[in-house]
Amino acid sequence: TDLADYIGDFTGIMERYGQKAVFYAHAGAGEIHLRPILNLKKEEDVILFRKISEEVAGLVKRYKGALSGEHGDGRVRAEFLPKVIGKENYELLRRIKQTWDPKGIFNPGKIVDAPPMDSSLRYEPGQTTPDYKTLLDFSRDGGILRHVEKCNGSGDCRKLPTAGGTMCPSYHATRTEMHTTRARANALREILSQPQDPLRPFDSEALKEVLDLCLSCKACASECPSTVDMAALKAEVMYQYQLNHGYSLRNRLFAGSHELYRLGRVARPLANALMTNPLAASVLKKAAGIHPRRSLPPIPKETWRGWFNNGGNDPAGEKEVYLFCDEFTNYTDPAPGIA
Ligand code: SF4
Repeated sequence: TDLADYIGDFTGIMERYGQKAVFYAHAGAGEIHLRPILNLKKEEDVILFRKISEEVAGLVKRYKGALSGEHGDGRVRAEFLPKVIGKENYELLRRIKQTWDPKGIFNPGKIVDAPPMDSSLRYEPGQTTPDYKTLLDFSRDGGILRHVEKCNGSGDCRKLPTAGGTMCPSYHATRTEMHTTRARANALREILSQPQDPLRPFDSEALKEVLDLCLSCKACASECPSTVDMAALKAEVMYQYQLNHGYSLRNRLFAGSHELYRLGRVARPLANALMTNPLAASVLKKAAGIHPRRSLPPIPKETWRGWFNNGGNDPAGEKEVYLFCDEFTNYTDPAPGIA
């Protein structure tokens, strides 16, 4: 019932500091996310960050509220826990942590004994944001680096399939942080903020490795709350990397797969025999960088276009359908297209 008063008092704090905030609320549950719009690359905003946090912690205490909602106390709010829950309760938390984790292995520095909330921040005061010329257009966000910086680390890309959604399939498969959208955004931000070679900022083996298992499925572009589009970022990084390093044999083979299949059709029985013979197939897969347990798709008797041009199309049909016939539908898997 005192939500409106609380928001009024919070707005008063913001006004005193000449600030604006983003309001986001699960109002029915009395839970609100209030985000002052601060630029933590500026020293004065880091100072404001602390001042506002201290005042809001006092306000929460006055309203007998809790500092954290579903996102936990983490490091940023932990410093204020003794103030909000009282020293006695805080000591109890410390004793529980000490009992179950005497060596401080699990999540050190979170909730209890946390470092100051304005230390080890993502950005250094005075840090600049280099601008890079890119092939794809990231101007909507002010450039590629600013697009990457949109990741706020919420970790939605670590949701499991049971939570619904698709993001992020590589994490679903490996359950390793390195294969999340967040890890890829973190690596990109670090490397592009302070590139080893400013003239070749994308020239990084570490970046290539962390992006390697991204399937470019684009699920993050719609499911990430900050709409980080890792597929577009990966395409840009790989394009820039290959400008300096050339294209690998594997990339050339995949990019020209339609030509290979067209040639393979000239001697289809021989090509199929090679692709299904275990020894020959393993040599081909090794050369093309394909996992040994994957099978190579045999060349079917007829391409989709062949079927269509040989009367597969029913001109008497009443309905018109537009089909985008890609190289896979045409050369390796015409059945779904025919269906
Ligand atoms: S595009 Fe890459 S990072 Fe984004 S959800 Fe798909 S696999 Fe994950």
